[in-house]
Amino acid sequence: MSELKIVYHPHPALRWKSKDVTRIDAQLKDWVEQMFDLMYEARGIGLAANQVALPYRLFVINPSGDPDQADLEQVFINPQIIKRNGSYDAEEGCLSLPEVYAPVTRAEKIVVEAFDLDGRDFAMELSGINGRVVQHENDHLDGVMFTDRVGDSVRAELQPLLDDLAGQMQHQQAEGQLADEAALIKELKRLEVERTA
Ligand code: ZN
Repeated sequence: MSELKIVYHPHPALRWKSKDVTRIDAQLKDWVEQMFDLMYEARGIGLAANQVALPYRLFVINPSGDPDQADLEQVFINPQIIKRNGSYDAEEGCLSLPEVYAPVTRAEKIVVEAFDLDGRDFAMELSGINGRVVQHENDHLDGVMFTDRVGDSVRAELQPLLDDLAGQMQHQQAEGQLADEAALIKELKRLEVERTA
């Protein structure tokens, strides 16, 4: 089975509007397991399929970030945020944007519906860090990055870091460590068709 890797800005997967998961099979379960491993390795608390170049509506979280607290792991398949209440600012980061941090306004309380890895639907009311992680990861499935949700002056401050990341990706492409833009997009389309046909 394919080995996943976290991709970084400006990989086209991070701008992909992903498609619903249509079947939960051994391949998908293997991917989810790899996503948790990659998330813990990178010391994250959430990881969306887009961040491992899979164009499907799915993300994983563990707000503790601690693999020993596996009871806090949660898989969200085809999630939908159906209610948002209140708002507050807090600093966010993203595994696809190393060293980039900025305050983001998010809803204080949300209700999210999704399917779990057994295909059972569930609804949860979330607030605080849990609600924030789910809003951040859910954005990824629409190709939205947290840096899209900051004001112009903050984005201007972050721009040099984003430019650095773009330069690193170009370098990897020039060195042949990463496929070129057209090939990356072609692969995303292939994956999309493979599991939504
Ligand atoms: Zn992120």
